[in-house]
Amino acid sequence: MARYTGPCCRLCRRENIELFLKGERCFTDKCAIKRRNYAPGQHGQSRVKVSPYGIQLREKQKVRRIYGILEKQFRGYFEKAERMKGVTGENLLFLLERRLDNIVYRLGFASSRTQARMLVRQGHFDVNGRRVDIPSYQVKVGDTVTLREKSRAVGSIIESLEAVVRRGIPQWLELDKDGFCGKVKSLITREDITTPIQEQLIVELYSK
Ligand code: SF4
Repeated sequence: MARYTGPCCRLCRRENIELFLKGERCFTDKCAIKRRNYAPGQHGQSRVKVSPYGIQLREKQKVRRIYGILEKQFRGYFEKAERMKGVTGENLLFLLERRLDNIVYRLGFASSRTQARMLVRQGHFDVNGRRVDIPSYQVKVGDTVTLREKSRAVGSIIESLEAVVRRGIPQWLELDKDGFCGKVKSLITREDITTPIQEQLIVELYSK
């Protein structure tokens, strides 16, 4: 499976926003965007007028990077969102939020989506009692995600669960910390996604 392996902080600096790609480090003074809040590269500090196309492109790249998805797969999500009932931009975000790696991150089993993806691929989680190791697996309302018995002593997972209080659990999810499991309580709504995203710009970009 292809994935981005370059420096994560560079992506935040490019998008000029904290994307929280490095777990706990993002909450410390070591966060690169706190120290060098300008775009990376030789011309990072020069003023450039951004075209409407550039704004749309940056928004798409930002969302892609938040969820750690490459272009081809992201386009696939967009096409699926277009075929669904409702608002395309919102459908796109709902599809991304319902990925198993995102749910694992949101529930606090991992400190970043990158780590969540790795844990899912290593087979640490069951969905409704069956082992699932596909990060893009779409979790539905009523599904239960459980950390497998033999994985409950993994240090990084325990540390993440301890630190989840800082991030908080979205209200459409429910975490049973002692039972090492979480449940999708209800359908996600647009208001539940608090990350500053203007999904309409992505729709405009792909509709050209
Ligand atoms: Fe982004 Fe985290 Fe790096 Fe800060 S530490 S720049 S939030 S990835």
